[in-house]
Amino acid sequence: MPDDFDQELKDKAALPDRTPRLEIKNLVRRYEGLAVVDDVSLRIMPGQVTCLLGPSGCGKSTTLRMIAGVEMQDSGEIWVDGKLVCDTHFRVPPERREIGLMFQDFALFPHLTVAGNVAFGLRNGTREEKRARVEELLDRVDLLRFIDGYPHQLSGGEQQRVALARALAPRPRIMLMDEPFSGLDNRLRDGIRDQTLSLLKEEDSAVLLVTHEPDEAMRMADEIALMRGGKIVQQGAPYNVYTRPVDQAAVAFFSDAN
Ligand code: ADP
Ligand code: MG
Repeated sequence: MPDDFDQELKDKAALPDRTPRLEIKNLVRRYEGLAVVDDVSLRIMPGQVTCLLGPSGCGKSTTLRMIAGVEMQDSGEIWVDGKLVCDTHFRVPPERREIGLMFQDFALFPHLTVAGNVAFGLRNGTREEKRARVEELLDRVDLLRFIDGYPHQLSGGEQQRVALARALAPRPRIMLMDEPFSGLDNRLRDGIRDQTLSLLKEEDSAVLLVTHEPDEAMRMADEIALMRGGKIVQQGAPYNVYTRPVDQAAVAFFSDAN
């Protein structure tokens, strides 16, 4: 038996760590008795992009706000790296959840330089280390030349790229993005989506991206969670969700939006 036991230990050691970076279990949020988020569960691994996709009003932003910790669920649990972050009795405050946020209207600070904006969330490290991190990220979003400029000198797309660099600077465990590109010009959007995706992949956060646009989810997601009326009605790889819609309403959603 000792040999078998050794082999079993070796097999276990060879397995990659399968603890999800983010796991939400049975989240429920009610407004005036009506469940707008109704028993939502999700798991996201490090480096994985999951898109919460669905029509306006289906509960996407409410789900994100509960994960961020700025809104409290009525029931359900939120786990990060195998540790409980929030249930109905216990709650880690938002600023201690190591979450990066990027929203459409989550503006840059107008009185800070681009460097100041990106450095905003950096708490640890020397001045030189912070500066190096800011330069690294601005270089990766092709905006190093604006490092000492101010937000008003940048276009909308450039400002969104600075917002992305700002959110990623402290190496968040989780990135929550709520329709981050919907204010942008169509011509710019694909380029920014691709650039954002490659940067997210390098950073190894778990990403939950909210969108009502199937195109965006198809382009960016490793996994799509299709949401309707507060529930996740289908979940899987983009190709599978697109080619095998779960019901007639899913077919309509994908074709209406195109
Ligand atoms: P989505 O982001 O998918 O468009 P939301 O999560 O913003 O959807 O909203 C889901 C539902 O919850 C909507 O019907 C919305 O009107 C309702 N809702 C959101 N916030 C509140 C609130 N603070 N009070 C009451 N109803 C709300
Ligand atoms: Mg929303």
